[in-house]
Amino acid sequence: MAEIHTGSCLCGAVRFKTSGRLRGVVYCHCSQCRKQSGHYYAATNVTDVDLEVTGGENLTWYNASDAARRGFCKVCGSALFWKHNDLAEISIMAGSFDQPSGLKGERHIFVEDKGEYYEIDDGLPCHTRSTASIRVAND
Ligand SMILES: [Zn+2]
Ligand SMILES: [Zn+2]
Repeated sequence: MAEIHTGSCLCGAVRFKTSGRLRGVVYCHCSQCRKQSGHYYAATNVTDVDLEVTGGENLTWYNASDAARRGFCKVCGSALFWKHNDLAEISIMAGSFDQPSGLKGERHIFVEDKGEYYEIDDGLPCHTRSTASIRVAND
């Protein structure tokens, strides 16, 4: 039986369930993630078919660029999803999962764009931009 994880936004209006193993958490320090989250983005991902959303009517999508959109709860504002328009996978904010999620940090991306007020010193691999190795766990 596939591994199941659940999560939600802060108010609970949007809930989700994932099937299968979750990828390690990727920390994205790009300016878009910084602005949206107020700090940096921490996300795992799954293939589209492995994500089931309830309360989807409370989910709003913001087209942050031509390439991707960002899903958040329109009731409480929690950031939940990042979706590349051309890929059949979806990133999910690590902090939105119910605990224990078993998630672990994997790498940092877009480190050149990080906020000036903190240092990255956890020893995980750092990438200037994105990296091709960021794929779902169960491929
Ligand atoms: Zn909410
Ligand atoms: Zn980013």
